[in-house]
Amino acid sequence: MKAVLLLSGGLDSSLAGKIVRDMGVDLVGLHLESPFGCDNNPERMADEIGIDLIRRPKGPEFIEVLKNPEFGYGSVVNPCIDCRILMFKIGKEVMDQVGATFLVTGEVVGQRPMSQKRDTLFLIDREAGMDGWILRPLSARLLPETLPEKKGWVDREKLLGWAGRSRKPQIELAATFRFSHVPSPAGGCLLTDHNFKERVTDFIALDGNRTTALAPLLRYGRHFRFGETWVIVGRDEADNRHLDRLIRGNGMAFHPVGFSGPGVFFPDPCPSDMEEITLGAFQVYGKNRPDGTVHARAVLDETEYPVQFHDTGNANETYQDPAFWNKHWRH
Ligand code: SF4
Repeated sequence: MKAVLLLSGGLDSSLAGKIVRDMGVDLVGLHLESPFGCDNNPERMADEIGIDLIRRPKGPEFIEVLKNPEFGYGSVVNPCIDCRILMFKIGKEVMDQVGATFLVTGEVVGQRPMSQKRDTLFLIDREAGMDGWILRPLSARLLPETLPEKKGWVDREKLLGWAGRSRKPQIELAATFRFSHVPSPAGGCLLTDHNFKERVTDFIALDGNRTTALAPLLRYGRHFRFGETWVIVGRDEADNRHLDRLIRGNGMAFHPVGFSGPGVFFPDPCPSDMEEITLGAFQVYGKNRPDGTVHARAVLDETEYPVQFHDTGNANETYQDPAFWNKHWRH
């Protein structure tokens, strides 16, 4: 019998997959990519379980869900119920494509406040049109028998009855399975992180109709909003590297030449006062920015080229004011 495992790359979904795989079920992993990116490594966990992995983007539908979730947000800007419904619907499509009959997840009853309450699990299954076809091996013994159990494709006796948020049994089971890698609980969803709340809220309100390719930019750098202008200033080399990769085809970047300062990134559409803003960012967040002519390296699509900015002293002085940047910093 064949099933699809929703594999985030975290520990729970990996354990759930291993339990079902060990029962002889032919399992295919499905990793659904968030437009906002994620730190997990699902390939590594698919190897641990010994299964193939398919990657699929959650796509523009996820941005629609994020803008207007039917079942609302959790404590930050996480539309978890609608997100799970979407994931199960995509899971169903992949099941049909690979000839699988049921879906396996690593959900644990009561582990997450919004989407993993008992009644909410049933609601999500129903809304996704998957009632009875979702097997949750880590909590199955606390839940009604699913169709794969009733049909004898999996042995209910070998399924678990976990509930709540303790991670201890998960770690112990990973040791029993001799996993060579135990993913850390971090690396979760950016939408549940209070540190990203303002910038995600801006994205939903201001950029939701732009390309989803802009969404991963939210993970890196300091973000500023001057009216409709969105500016990102790299905090360190790692930020600059990630942002440089992501901005190509989605906007423009400038890096200082001959002095120390941050990368300055403008997601599309780029504003007409890019030069003034860049000079201001170099001044406020850099060191020893020269007066007069300032040299920089521009990044646009696949090309990079030298540019010169001229600070005539008549430029908009607000951009040279640290307090102004601080006021418009979006966390
Ligand atoms: S935590 Fe993030 S990925 Fe997980 S269900 Fe909620 S919104 Fe979706």
